Amino acid sequence: MSEQNGTPAARRFRRSVGIIGSGVAALHLGLFLRQHGVSTTIYTDKHPDSIAKGRLLNTVVHHAPTLAREHELEIDFWLTAEIGIQEMSYHVGGPNPISFVGSFLPPSAAIDYRIYLPRLMQAFEERGGEIRMQILRIADIQLIADNHDLVVVASGRSTLGEAFPRRMDKSPYARPPRALCVGLFRGVRAEEPATVTINLEPGQGELIEIPLLSFDGLEQALLFEICPGSALIDLANVSPSSSPDLFRDVVLGALREHFPGTYERVDLSSFGLIRPLDLLQGVLTPLVREDWVRLPSGKIAVSLGDVHAAIDPMMGQGANVASHTALDLGRAILDESEYDELFAETVATARRPFVEAASDWTNMMLRRELPGHLLELLGVMPGNRALADVFTSNFGSPDRQWRAIATEDRARAFTATWADHAMSGAS
Ligand SMILES: Cc1cc2nc3c(=O)[nH]c(=O)nc-3n(C[C@H](O)[C@H](O)[C@H](O)COP(=O)(O)OP(=O)(O)OC[C@H]3O[C@@H](n4cnc5c(N)ncnc54)[C@H](O)[C@@H]3O)c2cc1C
Repeated sequence: MSEQNGTPAARRFRRSVGIIGSGVAALHLGLFLRQHGVSTTIYTDKHPDSIAKGRLLNTVVHHAPTLAREHELEIDFWLTAEIGIQEMSYHVGGPNPISFVGSFLPPSAAIDYRIYLPRLMQAFEERGGEIRMQILRIADIQLIADNHDLVVVASGRSTLGEAFPRRMDKSPYARPPRALCVGLFRGVRAEEPATVTINLEPGQGELIEIPLLSFDGLEQALLFEICPGSALIDLANVSPSSSPDLFRDVVLGALREHFPGTYERVDLSSFGLIRPLDLLQGVLTPLVREDWVRLPSGKIAVSLGDVHAAIDPMMGQGANVASHTALDLGRAILDESEYDELFAETVATARRPFVEAASDWTNMMLRRELPGHLLELLGVMPGNRALADVFTSNFGSPDRQWRAIATEDRARAFTATWADHAMSGAS
């Protein structure tokens, strides 16, 4: 082998990576690899047109580190100056209600994935990536591995993920801890400046309001997280296509009874789903799977995104984690020359604290009763804006957030660090 052919850049051009899936995990990895000259093929069952014309997929908020990665990947097609979300407004119900506001420093942003993913698929192809449309089964992972140096499985919460064993130590829920009902609604006045509002109603569930860029500009998403057996459960069961009036009444009833701060901003004359497909109802059992498996041929397959960690949307972590770990994996692919067990373990060790922090933090928030130390911490926030800003900005850094709040001692130390910023006279 000549020296020139052995340079890192030359080796990179000879490599070939197959990625299963075309969600944010697959596309951020694929775009990163193309940016660095690696031959990359995405295998997916979804054509961009069917995503664009399909049902609401989620209501993802991208936090500042993800927006910075989009800039690095040259896919920052949407101006944060126009759609940026500046603040998060918190309301915790119960016997001692807590309300406060924190800032995202710098701002976050939310784009309808029916717009976002097709645009990224287009960019991937324009930059020399190949997309093959195929519905794959678990056995096909080996076939794809045979054609590439490395296969990455980023197929979301589909059954392909079952190729990676579930980690029982990090998957505390045997059943979904919440039912989900999320839609884009007209007739809900957005808060100013642009704000994500999170309402926690102990024992009932949560409502998260998100200003999201969709087909007609900024629209208001309402994401209901419903505890099993809660009075809100009809939200998950009543179908707006078969009973549109009943569905509207159920949503309005939930807002009136449990989330009055949002109800106050509803215009009853125009309230309703914006388009029939702007609604998603379902359940999700959070879990963490192994980082990699050895295929029958001896090659390695790496898990990424929701395949690796399916995280409940309450704390808005799944896509941000998928993007973070996609670029970490991409850098490891460039750095290493062999995609063997040592490579896979190096990737796993590097990403573990970040992924586990996002998952552990969210799983703690999903408990039927929030731990006392967390309520104590939240109770300090109304009188300490600096602390609330750090807590809010940490949505983009779950590892930092988890180090701050995981235990009673850590939460006290976190509060103490910011005690000098407490506003005098604040309750
Ligand atoms: C209501 C809601 C709100 C959310 N809010 C947030 C938020 O605010 N912030 C945040 O960070 N995260 C949020 N999430 C989570 C986030 O949406 C996911 O974590 C993220 O989109 C997962 O991306 P992924 O690429 O891993 O998987 P996916 O986006 O699910 O992509 C999987 C891909 O694999 C393809 N595929 C599946 N099966 C096959 C097969 N058999 N053959 C071929 N291809 C296949 C699919 O077509 C798809 O392209 C939210 C989720 C929901 C449901």
